[in-house]
Amino acid sequence: MNFSHDTELSLRCAAALVNTNRVGGEQLGDQRLLGAFLNEWVWTGRRDGDDAELAAVWDLRDRLGGIWALAGDETAAVAAVNELLADTGARPWLTRHPELPEWHLHLSADDDPLAQRIGAEVGMALADVIRDGELRRLKICAAPDCDAVLVDLSRNRSRRFCDTGNCGNRQHVAAYRERQAHQHRDL
Ligand SMILES: [Zn+2]
Ligand SMILES: [Zn+2]
Repeated sequence: MNFSHDTELSLRCAAALVNTNRVGGEQLGDQRLLGAFLNEWVWTGRRDGDDAELAAVWDLRDRLGGIWALAGDETAAVAAVNELLADTGARPWLTRHPELPEWHLHLSADDDPLAQRIGAEVGMALADVIRDGELRRLKICAAPDCDAVLVDLSRNRSRRFCDTGNCGNRQHVAAYRERQAHQHRDL
């Protein structure tokens, strides 16, 4: 696997977006929180800062979560990604700017609505994943009480837990306690 840097960034951003209401409650509850998210993920271009924009991002979040859930079904995932690309009117062009000085693709115009631009970029990144036969890298956290998503960019696709909920550590501790309990019973 060798995704380009902008594909990886888009995939990680998509997972982070989906997880904004899957770990610790709603993290994108208002425009200020959305602004912070956009700054963290270095989204340039148009920002309206109104309720319609926020609602559109929430819709996109649900839609992307739905695509993660389809990762085991290639045919369905392809249909969903094609639909996303069509709905967002993705049209690639090369650009670079101070926030990301390497040449990379933007998939929509800077003055297109925010959710449309995010959707187009993520749609294209997902198309890369599918072209590379790597859909299984889109995962749901393996912790039983967590439905956060992750994109497993590890060499051997070995990641099982999300970044967000400290789930890897929690499962490790749970497994340790389980072993301890068994040892005590065995004595
Ligand atoms: Zn850019
Ligand atoms: Zn998790």
